[in-house]
Amino acid sequence: MSLIGKTAVVTGSNSGIGLGVARALAAEGADVVLNSFTDRPEDHALAASLGADFGVTARYIRADLSKPEDARALVASAGACDILVNNAGIQHVAPIDEFPVDKWDAIIAINLSSAFHTTAVALPMMRKAGWGRIVNIASAHGLTASPFKSAYIAAKHGVVGLTKTVALETAEEAITCNAICPGYVLTPLVEAQIPDQMKVHGMDRETVIREVMLTRQPSKQFATVEQLGGTTVFLCSEAAAQITGTTISVDGGWTAL
Ligand code: NAD
Repeated sequence: MSLIGKTAVVTGSNSGIGLGVARALAAEGADVVLNSFTDRPEDHALAASLGADFGVTARYIRADLSKPEDARALVASAGACDILVNNAGIQHVAPIDEFPVDKWDAIIAINLSSAFHTTAVALPMMRKAGWGRIVNIASAHGLTASPFKSAYIAAKHGVVGLTKTVALETAEEAITCNAICPGYVLTPLVEAQIPDQMKVHGMDRETVIREVMLTRQPSKQFATVEQLGGTTVFLCSEAAAQITGTTISVDGGWTAL
C-alpha cells in the first residue's frame, strides 16, 4: 500500500504515539504535518529529520489545541489534509470532588474538543479531494472507566461518540472515521515512570511492569508506538475502506476482561 501524494496531519506528534504514527504514515510515503504547542528549534528539526528518513515532506506547525482557533488554524494552514489523526492528549488524576476545574477544562478542550475543531476544517478538504481518513486516538478508557480519571474518561468516551457521528455523516463518501483504543503504551512518558515505581514498590523493573502498571492488561506487555502506527496505516488502506464508525482496541485484552 502506498500513501504517496497524501498529506497527514497528526496532532500532538512531537513525541510518543503521535510521533510513532507520523513515522508509520511517512514510511508509506505520506507527507506529514507534526504538531504540538511548543515552537522550539528541536520541533522543526524533528520534522526535518523525519522527512529525510522517509523522503517525504514533513513540516512542524505549532498550535495549542486547548484553543479552538489554533486547532482550526492547524488544519487550514496544512493546506491539505487527506489523513487526520487526532492524537494530542493530557491526563490528570484526582478524585472528582477535588478535581481542579482548570484541569477538567483543559482535558476536555485538548482531548475532545480539538478533534471536533480539526475535523470540522478537515472534512471539506477531504470532500474536495474525494478521499479521507480520520483516526482518533482514544483509549481503553474510551470504553471502560477507572477511578480518579473523570475528565480523561469523559473526554475519551466523547471521542468514541464523535467518531461514530462523523462516520455516519460521511458514510456514503470515500471517507472513514475510526477510533483506536490503546491500553498502556510504552511511550517516553510511561518509561520515565518505571524507575519511580520501582523505588516506591521496592520491585524490579519486570515486576513493576507486570504487577503495578499492567494489572489490567492481560497480555502483561505494553503496546508499542509502532503497533499503533501500523494500526493507523491499516485504517488508511483500501482493505479498511468499509471500516468506519468503530473502535479498534490495541490493549492486550484489557477490554475483554
Ligand atoms: P505524550 O505526552 O508523549 O504525547 C502527547 C502529545 O500531545 C505530545 O506531543 C504533546 O506535546 C501534545 N500536546 C499536549 N498538549 C497539547 C496542546 N495543548 N496542544 C497541542 N499538543 C499538545 O503521550 P502519549 O502517550 O503519546 O499520548 C498520545 C495520545 O494517546 C493521547 O491522546 C493519550 O491519551 C493516548 N493514549 C496513551 C496511552 C499510553 O499508555 N501512553 C494509552 C491510551 C491512550
